[in-house]
Amino acid sequence: MTLVHTLGFPRIGERRELKFALEAFWRGDSPAAALEETARFLRARRWQTQAAAGLGLVTVGDCALYDHVLDTTLLLGAAPARFGFGAARIGLAEQFALARGNADQPALEMTKWFDTNYHYLVPELDARTRLSLHAGALLDEVREAQALGHRVKVALVGPLTWLVLGKSHEADFDRRALTGAVAEQYARLLGELGALGVEWVQLDETALVTDLDAGWLAAADAIYARLGAAADGKAGATAEAAAARPRLLLAAAFGDVSRHAARLAGWPLDGLHLDLVRAPDQLAAFLPDWPEGRVLSAGVVDGRNVWRNDLRRSLATLAPLHGALGDRLWLAPSCSLLHVPVALDAETRLDAEVKPWLAFATEKLGELALLAHALDAASRHDLGARAEDDAVLARALAASDAARGARLASRRTLHRTVRARVDAITATMTERASPHAVRAVAQQAALGLPPLPTTTIGSFPQTAAIRAARAAHRRGELGALDYLHAMRAEVADVIARQEALGLDVLVHGEPERTDMVEFFAERLWGYAVTEHGWVQSYGSRCVKPPILFGDILRPEALTVDTASHAQSLTARPVKGMLTGPVTMLQWSFVRDDLPREQVQLQLALALRDEVIALEAAGIRIVQIDEPAFREGLPLRAADQPAWLDAAVRAFRLSAAGVADSTQIHTHMCYSEFNDVLPWIAAMDADVITIETSRSNMELLDGFARFDYPNQIGPGVYDIHSPRVPSVEAMLALLRRACAVIPRERLWINPDCGLKTRGWIETQAALANMVEAARQLRGEMA
Ligand code: GLN
Ligand code: ZN
Repeated sequence: MTLVHTLGFPRIGERRELKFALEAFWRGDSPAAALEETARFLRARRWQTQAAAGLGLVTVGDCALYDHVLDTTLLLGAAPARFGFGAARIGLAEQFALARGNADQPALEMTKWFDTNYHYLVPELDARTRLSLHAGALLDEVREAQALGHRVKVALVGPLTWLVLGKSHEADFDRRALTGAVAEQYARLLGELGALGVEWVQLDETALVTDLDAGWLAAADAIYARLGAAADGKAGATAEAAAARPRLLLAAAFGDVSRHAARLAGWPLDGLHLDLVRAPDQLAAFLPDWPEGRVLSAGVVDGRNVWRNDLRRSLATLAPLHGALGDRLWLAPSCSLLHVPVALDAETRLDAEVKPWLAFATEKLGELALLAHALDAASRHDLGARAEDDAVLARALAASDAARGARLASRRTLHRTVRARVDAITATMTERASPHAVRAVAQQAALGLPPLPTTTIGSFPQTAAIRAARAAHRRGELGALDYLHAMRAEVADVIARQEALGLDVLVHGEPERTDMVEFFAERLWGYAVTEHGWVQSYGSRCVKPPILFGDILRPEALTVDTASHAQSLTARPVKGMLTGPVTMLQWSFVRDDLPREQVQLQLALALRDEVIALEAAGIRIVQIDEPAFREGLPLRAADQPAWLDAAVRAFRLSAAGVADSTQIHTHMCYSEFNDVLPWIAAMDADVITIETSRSNMELLDGFARFDYPNQIGPGVYDIHSPRVPSVEAMLALLRRACAVIPRERLWINPDCGLKTRGWIETQAALANMVEAARQLRGEMA
């Protein structure tokens, strides 16, 4: 029998139960016991889902309340000393203090998990880090699953990956100094899991798909040698621990590890999981000498995307493997299913044509079970049981073929006009008429802005009233016209407030947008949106990526009506507000039948038309947000320049259709720019607004060193906190900015949009910001 397993499963719950339980607990509305009860219920349900789908092992250890990397850090006893938890038992309060900060200490830093939109808490490692095993919570979870009758595989962040992802604030601390200690704790853990009768442990060593230097590879060798020695009863492991040690499955998701084939062959592994969706060709490097007795877990169902599997194609890949390996072939999704929504059947309003083309996490388990069934049936062929005779299988294959056929043949998938336009893109279409220095003069003549102009990033507080109006509209209780009036009233309100505050460049406030990507996805052809397709982003936060299934067509203007209404209310310039092509692509589930670059260009063309339409309607400034600009950056350095070039080209295509006098802004909010600065400059936006306040403007040094040629608005206050920064604090940041960037090229703005803030602090903070600008202008004059 071919065994099916999953590297991981969504933990937030089909109805985001975990989110609501966490937030109720944090607000103090419900006790710890209620949160723990919900978490237990959700664990039982996910294991049940896996068992019911026919998986031979259910996955335990990936059920984090907040983040699985944090769980690993706690497992290793590596809470940073600055929190002062000492030997105290880490409970919910301590766990959430690490995740969200407390009165004395900021939270652990958070960053993206490889090239996904999931954010993990970065292990903070330094010379004071001492590791010790705290496996109680994990062992309890194992017992819980066993008590429910499940055969358990424990999934953990691998020791190498945990170390690689760690960060040190001490420049001279080398995390590899912890290699031995980390290996030691994992070895002990394996013993404890073995004693509980856990048969398999999956170590997620995603770091292996990134660029690792010789030093890191040596550390990896040392770690796995130690884990192997534990198995052989050497190096101090007790005989019992060795006998009971679970088997090790190393999982390498998100890329190609064929360059490590020889090295991996030498590690003491009982199984290796390969991502055959991202890197199908890597198999060739492994196959000729697949180690005797080792399991190959074939990741053939895409864990990063929502398309139904092409079962016939998967079977073609798998059949020879099955022939060679027999039961040593396992089936799995390419990576953890954390990155896709839970279940398709929750969707009742999803585009009826598109829905049969999709498979979410639960459906993907079903696909894997079917593939296993097909392989097993085919190998019984000799005994007379032909795969084709199997009715279930025949139906599934037919449905898979039909879905794929329908998807490729749909009129909405292929729009000849769109394809022709992409083919006809020329170099001039990605060039503004003049260089920035010339444009800046034309723009100043048109806009007449004061020095150090003040502006905001786009959104203003999404108040309860706005959300209520939207919900009523969705339920059909508020008609289209009434909803439009409600939104217009909000726009009028924010315009009046901005005028009263004395801001120079205004925004309409984005009250009509639930989400900066979904708003456009709902209006562009080629996109479908879901009701419940939530994916965890970090902690209790989820995103609902829209599904980009077809050629992108802009059927009518998307934002012109709102922008011109806002502009009609004031003599000051109002910025048009769009989400850029790179971000639209990055934050969507994207069709896999067309190169992503092509899709990105289709998006860029649609946005270009919108930019031109805004200009024609009298909008003099258009901001094209690209907060996800570097998110899709390939994991390996060698692949990055080509990707960045394509991203820049798409952005420029969307922006370059306007006259010199129309000012293009872009906005990005993260703090790693230095490695991509040449490309940011190549985007050639007239103004870029970025997040800098939390790094105390340090980020600007890179821009200064690079001699960034266009205008910059470094964020002067952190919008993530309700704290109202003082005039002096902002002045201090601005003086630092003035020291590195010429004043004629500086703008003054917050770090990011204000939609998560309340009005009271927003108004106070912006008043201080405008006052800081006034004082600085006074000093300059
Ligand atoms: N214009 C958007 C806003 O202000 C930008 C959001 C973002 O950078 N993520 O909300
Ligand atoms: Zn932002």
